[in-house]
Amino acid sequence: RAELIVVGTGYRAIGDLTLEAKASIVQADTVLCLVGDPMVTGYLARLNPSVRTLDGFYAKGKRRQESYEEMVREILAEVRRDRLVCCALYGHPGVFAYPGHEAVRRTRLEGIPARMLAGSSAEDWLFADLGLDPATSGCQSFEASDFLLRRRIFDPTSLLVLWQVGVIGMTDRDLDFDARDGAALLAERLVAAYGGDHEVTVYEASPYPVTPPRISPVPLAKLADTQLTAISTLVVPPLPARPFDREVLARMRTAV
Ligand code: SAM
Repeated sequence: RAELIVVGTGYRAIGDLTLEAKASIVQADTVLCLVGDPMVTGYLARLNPSVRTLDGFYAKGKRRQESYEEMVREILAEVRRDRLVCCALYGHPGVFAYPGHEAVRRTRLEGIPARMLAGSSAEDWLFADLGLDPATSGCQSFEASDFLLRRRIFDPTSLLVLWQVGVIGMTDRDLDFDARDGAALLAERLVAAYGGDHEVTVYEASPYPVTPPRISPVPLAKLADTQLTAISTLVVPPLPARPFDREVLARMRTAV
């Protein structure tokens, strides 16, 4: 009977839950969740009264990685009790989210079946809300602190999506975190590639159909003065495309 199913609850409160994710929650012996929105937690509890939230593992001053480690151990402890465990995480459970992947990996190492179901990520919602198609210029996604620290190489003529822009350099969970220093660092790096007038968008998907998403356009030079929160994602539109490589173009034509 022991099995782990990791599901995503997406962003639209309840509406993003797939039928398969819902069935997994209903069938489970134990449901563990990290979904943020109390309304979603309440809904999960109606589907399955065993629901317990993993929120308590976060704390100010405690390293986020330590909190994630404890969450994974908690999930594993339930699986080892010979239970069908469903772990519900907001968004896509495997996108910019460590505990789901790690719990699946460790559960399989113990010879117990484990799988992950896809959910709607913030990027899925921004494609819809901002009318963007990654096919147009390609799409690069980076975690903002990692983007800065590792000097990630990116193509400014391709769409750039930066995650966790409101928590650059934050290692714990600090609800009073001041995002300005990190935003200034990021602006410096981006201005060098795009120029200060380049208009970017701070995006926050809405949990409810009746509330619009936050779509705040801002020139890069003013990024540090803009409010960035733990749920902000930054969308940097591409510079004009480079001309085609003529040699490649010629070879493609001969190939057709
Ligand atoms: N697993 C999530 C997903 O699939 O979208 C991502 C979780 S990641 C730990 C947290 C980051 O996701 C935030 O810093 C932000 O970049 C993005 N995010 C979270 N909530 C968001 C929202 N409502 N709108 C836009 N981006 C959001």
